[in-house]
Formats: sequence, structure tokens, C-alpha cells
Amino acid sequence: MSYVFQPAPAPSVPVVGRAERFPVRRIYCVGRNYVEHAQEMGFTGREPPFFFLKPADAVVVVNEGETGAMAYPPMTSNFHHEIELVVAIGKGGKNILAADAHKHIFGYAVGLDMTRRDLQGEMKKQGRPWCIGKAFDQSAPIGPITPADQAGDVNKAPIWLQVNGKDRQRSNVSKLIWNIAETIEHLSAAWELQPGDLIYSGTPEGVAAVVAGDTLVGGVAGLGTLSVKVQGA
Ligand code: MN
Repeated sequence: MSYVFQPAPAPSVPVVGRAERFPVRRIYCVGRNYVEHAQEMGFTGREPPFFFLKPADAVVVVNEGETGAMAYPPMTSNFHHEIELVVAIGKGGKNILAADAHKHIFGYAVGLDMTRRDLQGEMKKQGRPWCIGKAFDQSAPIGPITPADQAGDVNKAPIWLQVNGKDRQRSNVSKLIWNIAETIEHLSAAWELQPGDLIYSGTPEGVAAVVAGDTLVGGVAGLGTLSVKVQGA
């Protein structure tokens, strides 16, 4: 096989305790999946799950114990953090039942669904796609993937985010409106999942803006922490 130019390198995420990395195929995200976050965005929280995507190369991979760098993106003055539990799919499938979802999960990671909230809001108002608000370069920081059998019970795990050492988001994965298994059931009815897919499962309440120079440190119990500093524009 020859190409007219060198293909871009495949985005990948380190795996805890393994030399091999997890190659990223797609990034699915769940919208408004915690009641109190849905409410802060002006919704009741009682709706079927809905999804959007980010490009695979939007990942900003941060190793455990390191602080990653994320550029302050262009065209926004309201750059929001959303701390999320990320599910890494190891076995593909379509129409997966919630009861079988665990068989398709390779592991879990801590991620940030970074959002240009002003642009997202404008697109919502106009009934246009969210891409410019959600799917921009470096919009998906992620820490190492912990294999599922080493992750503990993530469905009951505390999830939190601090900015410059101060609490911004603090909740528990048990408060998901659609839990991980139900999310996989809904998602796999709409798309055939494949190994390498990541699912950003939604953020709890407390989303707010960050500026250049801020350091975000977030975690999900059992999965370590993710630390990222916002660089200048
Ligand atoms: Mn989100």
C-alpha cells in the first residue's frame, strides 16, 4: 500500500500495567447524563440518551503523574471543563443488551469533554450541529486506561474535578441518568461499536470556565487522576 502522503499516526492511549497501547477508533460522547448537570443547562434530565462525537485525534493523552498541556482554543471566551468517566470498548457489537455490556468493555479512564460553551450555545439556538463547540482540536484530554478487572466498581465511584486546587465538580458515577451498561445498549443500537471506541459518559454538575494558566486535576476513584494545564491562546 502506498499513499499520496504519510497517513497521520493512529491516536492511542496508554494502558495501566501494559506496554501495549489502546488504539482509538472513535470518540462517542453522551449529552446531559447527570440530572443536576442537565438542570444547570436548563433541562429536566428526563429524556432518552443522546450522543455526539469528537474526532479520535482530539485526544490529549496525559500519563499518570504528569501534567499535560492543552491549548486554549480559538473563537471562544467561555471554555468549559466537563470531567467524565470514559469507557474503552475492547470488543465490538451492535444491539448490545445492557446485561451483556460488560463483555464489551476493555477498561475505563478519566477524561475531560472540553467545550467551547459560547459556540455550543449559539449552535443550539440556531438548531445547528454542535461540532464547533465540542469537536475541536485537543477537546478530549484523557488519562491512562485501567483494565476493567483492575478498576473496581466504577458504577459507584466518586468523580471530581479541581481547578487550581479548588473544587469545581464533585459527584458519583452512581448518579448517571443512563448508566454505563444502558448507555452501551442505546449507543450500539445506533452505531456498531468496534474495539478502540471511547465513550465519554457525561459530566456531573459544576461545569464552568477555565482560562490560560489554569491547572485542572480530576479523577474517578479507582482510575487515578488526570492533570492538564491550559496554555495561552
Ligand atoms: Mn460532556
